[in-house]
Amino acid sequence: MRMIFLGPPGAGKGTQAVKLAAKYGIAHISTGDMLREHVRNETELGKEAKIYMDSGRLVPDELIIEMVRRRLKKEDSKKGFILDGFPRTVKQAEALDELLKSEGIVLDAVVFFDADEETLVRRLSGRRVCPNCNAIYNVYNEDYPSEDCCKNCGVKLVQRDDDKPDVVRQRLKVYEKETAPLLAYYKDKGNLIAVDASLESDEVLRAIEGLCGGKDDSN
Ligand code: AMP
Repeated sequence: MRMIFLGPPGAGKGTQAVKLAAKYGIAHISTGDMLREHVRNETELGKEAKIYMDSGRLVPDELIIEMVRRRLKKEDSKKGFILDGFPRTVKQAEALDELLKSEGIVLDAVVFFDADEETLVRRLSGRRVCPNCNAIYNVYNEDYPSEDCCKNCGVKLVQRDDDKPDVVRQRLKVYEKETAPLLAYYKDKGNLIAVDASLESDEVLRAIEGLCGGKDDSN
């Protein structure tokens, strides 16, 4: 299974990608998570990326494309992958096409997570993440841990700096301008499928599996 998860911030791409990647034993490639790790480790890339991330802007294409190129070469990507948050610009999509073509890889689907702005803002403002394992929670969900600690590793959950209201507004604007045009790009290629991402998490998961055939045919 080789898929792209496309959609605005807060649509639930990361949440679903974690579940599906675990279920089918494929790689979850989140460029946001990779960048946050660079920021934590204070690498050169991390220092540069932080400036863009903190203000809700996109990190320059060249940096992201190179990071993904290296990631896709890793062994765990060979069994299949979900690209979560990449590509985010037409330039990134074109670079990915080249990359996949050179490796002889064909995408199974581009899943568009469709949700209205009210849902997105609510999800982003309620989102809390584990700084250790990247697990995602939401204070508005019934299963939110009462102690504010990650269920996997017990670490105190935090709100991402870029989930604060001002930055959220900027990220949604950037999505409309830079990323939304990818819908037409993939529609033209014929492999775009849309799911109603405002549904409950389990329903979204079932919808994706239904649309993708729910099987791992990557071997
Ligand atoms: P995310 O966790 O996917 O919401 O990404 C958090 C932030 O990382 C974004 O607001 C961007 O600043 C940066 N970022 C993640 N993926 C990309 C990408 N494909 N292209 C450019 N910037 C990205």
